[in-house]
Amino acid sequence: MPTPPRLEVQDLARTFEGREVVAGVSLTVAPGQVTCLLGPSGCGKSTTLRIVAGVDRQSGGRVLVDGTCVSDDAMHLPPEQRGIGLMFQDFALFPHLSVGDNVAFGLDGGLRRHRERVAELLERVDLGGFIDAFPHQLSGGEQQRVALVRALAPRPAIMLMDEPFSGLDNRLRDDIRDRTLALLKEENTAVLLVTHEPDEAMRMADEIALMRAGRIVQRGAPYHVYNNPKDRAAAAFFSDIN
Ligand code: ADP
Ligand code: MG
Repeated sequence: MPTPPRLEVQDLARTFEGREVVAGVSLTVAPGQVTCLLGPSGCGKSTTLRIVAGVDRQSGGRVLVDGTCVSDDAMHLPPEQRGIGLMFQDFALFPHLSVGDNVAFGLDGGLRRHRERVAELLERVDLGGFIDAFPHQLSGGEQQRVALVRALAPRPAIMLMDEPFSGLDNRLRDDIRDRTLALLKEENTAVLLVTHEPDEAMRMADEIALMRAGRIVQRGAPYHVYNNPKDRAAAAFFSDIN
């Protein structure tokens, strides 16, 4: 038997008030692979991700982790039981917890038991000296870096990322993107990344799934999709890359 994909989404659908905003989305993500759901605002990316995470329910289709169903018409495993990490755009830290306690939040035994790993992770994003600081003492970009390593700390087998770098200014963004990607690759994490920015997908993805109006219209390696857009709309979507 071949190994099942780490994450598999089969024919996912979601209807809001009779309007189908996700319509038959299927995809797989292997360990160590970054699959990017790329498409314009409103095409259904976040809705897809929320269903995979388990914070929303589909109208149809299934989600499987390592070949085991975690959600279909009949059953729904709660988010915390799916072995899935989340990095969303609104990255709020717990204001009453230190940076170290924030990063250790999802770790059994907390900072006391995992101080070394937490310090090492903070070091990787140039925040080594901040383990005992509190969020309000950090800039917005620094807080976002803390949130990134907080999501990575429990070493989830699957990471879902919804525009996680969008709040950062350009120069910082490239750097944080590269560091995050390196950490994810080291852990062999299966990553499903959502973005509306073609250059982010080109930079991070092993596979791009181009989404439009609730459907995946094209998929493939980044340069393949970029060089062979399926239609004029796909070409136009990529044309604002500089
Ligand atoms: P994207 O992340 O690609 O920008 P979303 O998945 O957030 O798109 O939204 C897709 C469509 O579904 C949008 O038209 C949005 O308004 C609609 N939508 C999302 N969530 C809800 C909801 N809870 N109720 C009604 N409509 C929603
Ligand atoms: Mg969105």
